[in-house]
Amino acid sequence: MVQKHRASALHYDFRLEAGGVLVSWAVPKGPSPDPKVKRLAMAVEDHPLDYARFEGVIPEGEYGGGTVMVWDIGTYELEGDESFDEALRKGRIVFTLNGKKLRGGWVLVHTSGRQWLLMKRTDRHASTVDVTRAKPRSVLTRRLLAGIARDEGGDVAKAATGDPSGR
Ligand code: MN
Repeated sequence: MVQKHRASALHYDFRLEAGGVLVSWAVPKGPSPDPKVKRLAMAVEDHPLDYARFEGVIPEGEYGGGTVMVWDIGTYELEGDESFDEALRKGRIVFTLNGKKLRGGWVLVHTSGRQWLLMKRTDRHASTVDVTRAKPRSVLTRRLLAGIARDEGGDVAKAATGDPSGR
């Protein structure tokens, strides 16, 4: 699953369920379905499984303060015979997504420190469409970030800076 998160900066939290937790990366520019585009993905702390459907407002002043949207959700399959832990340790996780927005083959490759790269693999789901702009709404509630902030008592103006203009 992917949460769009307008905290101190906008980013997309990319989370894969493994070992009873959500193993997580923060992707500043969000995923790109274009195989030519490599997106920086910073490894961040695991989150509990029940966080996967959290959409709302984290109070300002708390860690990650801001508005959170469930931007995509679905299932994934690992490619190959390795376990998730082995792939994580080796720094190369190859998988297929079956989400509502993200589909097909993807790969996460470790580069250094907490830095990984998230890349689309070439298949029929590859596209040059900017999916983060084309599909900016919550998969759970169809709301934009500003709508979530408005409904949940958050900072609407700050949240709106994460929405595409003119919508
Ligand atoms: Mn986040």
